[in-house]
Amino acid sequence: MNNISRHVFNGKKYNSYSNHLREKYGERVQKVTVDAGFTCPNRDGTVANGGCTYCNNLSFNPGYNNAEKSIRQQIDEGILFLKNRYKVNKFFVYFQPYSNTYASLDRLKKLYEEALSVDGVIGLTVGTRSDCIDPEKIGYFEELSKHYDVTIEYGLESIYDETLKKINRGHDFQNYLNALEMTAGRGIKICSHIILGFPWETKEQWLHEADVISGFPLDYLKIHQLHIVRDTVMAKQHAKNPFKLLTFNQYLDVIVSFIERLNPEIIIQRLAGEAPPHILLAPKWGKRNSEILLAIDTELEKRDTWQGKQYQKK
Ligand code: SF4
Repeated sequence: MNNISRHVFNGKKYNSYSNHLREKYGERVQKVTVDAGFTCPNRDGTVANGGCTYCNNLSFNPGYNNAEKSIRQQIDEGILFLKNRYKVNKFFVYFQPYSNTYASLDRLKKLYEEALSVDGVIGLTVGTRSDCIDPEKIGYFEELSKHYDVTIEYGLESIYDETLKKINRGHDFQNYLNALEMTAGRGIKICSHIILGFPWETKEQWLHEADVISGFPLDYLKIHQLHIVRDTVMAKQHAKNPFKLLTFNQYLDVIVSFIERLNPEIIIQRLAGEAPPHILLAPKWGKRNSEILLAIDTELEKRDTWQGKQYQKK
């Protein structure tokens, strides 16, 4: 057991993103999501057709996003909405749907710089794939990071190549590691996301995944349960041949064990996913994200554990 104890996390039992932002900026900071009209090489035939089997970008697009609106308009509408709702004054612009570095550097510069010119915007988060980045783009992000808070978010989903093949991810684990190596140590924040609950993976594999990820140069991690949303390849596979998904209690057990193994330096941005009810097919836990987070807090308390309690520094 290492020396990290709960007080390090400001009353939480894990290193939470909201606490981190409050500590860093002294106030709440919100992400404003934009849809810049990108596509994805895993959908347009460059790498594959059809995309990742679980992918439906509707599952994370808020109402004010629409690629037909300019970036500026989406940000203005998003800021207005968030200011009314949370009384916040600082924002990150989140280029979220599809692969947001999948264009020429000139086009990217125009989009990102338009976003950064808006009052109140202090940084960017750019969601992308590990095969949509190159040294020239990383060099540009490095420059931006000298003036703004810039995060690149790489989807990983699983460290197991067998899984990446089954979900038609279109790249392997090594490709992700190459992108990580290219990005680390350049002043750019790095986030990744993974999914727990693929029916062919086991709890043992998820805990091993926590150990492996703990050694990555990551600033942030997003984790969510496998859920099936409509209009996806996985939805068809599940309809044809229903496979087991984690129950709420199983997920609770897995996520708490995962947190316990995770390097306490990695800031957790997300512990569960919440697809809009009209597109969620399974599992239907009937719980809001806030209820899931509360249950995770309670379980951590009950087990008298916290992020990194079982972390073994290599
Ligand atoms: S999940 Fe991301 S990488 Fe996969 S198909 Fe969808 S947009 Fe492309």
